[in-house]
Parts: sequence; structure tokens; C-alpha cells
Amino acid sequence: MSAEIPFWPAGVEGALSLTFDDNAPSQLANALPCLDDHGLQGTFYVNPGRRPAWELQVPRWQEAASRGHEIGNHTSRHPCSCNFGFDPTYCLERLSLQDIEATIDEAEADLDQLFPQQRGKRSFCYPCYQSYVGAGVERQSYVPVVARRFRAARGGGERPNNPRLIDLSYTWAWAVEGHSAEQMIAYVDKAADQGLWAIICMHGVGGDHIAIETRALEGLARHLDQQRQRIRAWRTRYWSLITSGPIWRSKNAS
Ligand SMILES: [Zn+2]
Repeated sequence: MSAEIPFWPAGVEGALSLTFDDNAPSQLANALPCLDDHGLQGTFYVNPGRRPAWELQVPRWQEAASRGHEIGNHTSRHPCSCNFGFDPTYCLERLSLQDIEATIDEAEADLDQLFPQQRGKRSFCYPCYQSYVGAGVERQSYVPVVARRFRAARGGGERPNNPRLIDLSYTWAWAVEGHSAEQMIAYVDKAADQGLWAIICMHGVGGDHIAIETRALEGLARHLDQQRQRIRAWRTRYWSLITSGPIWRSKNAS
């Protein structure tokens, strides 16, 4: 019965969130101006203090937050699988849940201080899309650690989210490294046709690591600008989407 009730508000067919990881400098230089030009808001998952340019970036992220962009928690130390070899002593297979709590809470304290207007309203993003600590029989999920602290968190996954079914403590996002505007538009349009919530994950934009070209984001942003009646893309912050939108109502309906 409930499946017959339209999920989205009248006229809206689907939703899209634009997310950016790792506070790459090219996001400030290329992504933010593009989003602002088209009246779009993004979610930027940062590692406070971790990267050399962080202190220099802060005033510009604060400006972005004042324009409605979300500055999300991506931990202070960005722990990923030991298999990457990034840091052989601080990597997920060697960490405990307490270690994860520490790096999340350290980042959150910094963000609360720097972005007080978003206190209690920001979402979380799993570094390297990975959500466990330990190895073998000792491996365990740290999703509950995140779920106790945030109403929504973003992981990785190729498919858009079914807003009626997705666990908000680990939503799926498509990482679009090297993809064109046409490929991203096709993905978003198909998701909207199916009534889904697409999340796109970007890192570098026109530079930096695992990047897309600036013109690819520009093409997608132009399309979203034109389609804003059909695809709810102009309020991409999780908090806005979840608390004012139908996902939140759906989760609390029963
Ligand atoms: Zn990351």
C-alpha cells in the first residue's frame, strides 16, 4: 500500500547530492564557483588539520558554509585499509573502535569550532568508503559508531539509493573519476526516472587526485540547473534533504 504513495513532493521525481572528498584545493578553485554559478549546494567532506593547506583553506570553507554548502566530517586522520600501504601503523585492520571514535570526534570538535552554524547538522563520510576496524575474526563494523553521532553518512556504491530502503548510516555514492558530463547526466536522469536518490562522489575537479575535468562538472551543473523542477538537486546538504524532505518523514512514519 505505502509503495503507491509518491515518495517525493509533487513535481519532483528524484534527488541528487553532490559530494566532494578530502578538501582538495581544486574544489575551492573550480567546484565551488561552478556550483555557486548554478545555484547548487554541495557537501564537502574535509579532514581538519590533516592536509598542509588546511589552515589557509579555512576562511574560504567558512565563506562556502555561509552560502549554504555543507562542510562534513571525514575524520581527522583519514584511516583506510592497511592494504593501501598509506600508513602501516595507522590503518583500519590495526585500529579499534576507540581509535575510530577518537579521529571522528577530533574532527567534529574542530568543525564545531570553525563552522558553529552547522553544529549537530553535518553528515559523515567514510574514508576510502570503508566502514570496519580489525582483521579476520576480529573485524567489526564501525557503522554503529557513526550512527550514534550522525543522522546520515556516505559510503560508496555504484547504484543510486532507494530512499525507502537505504540505511542512512551508510548511503551509496558513485565515484566519478574521469567521467564526462554526459555520463553523469545519464546516471542522474536514470535515477530520477526510477524515483531514486543519486549521490555523486568527487575528489579533484580540474586538478588534484582522482579528478574529473571542470567542464564535466560544469556540464552536469548546467543540466541540474535546467532540471531543478524534476530533480531535487538544489538542496544537496544531507541535513536539509533528510530533515525537511521526505526521506526523514518516511523513516519516522511507522
Ligand atoms: Zn577521503
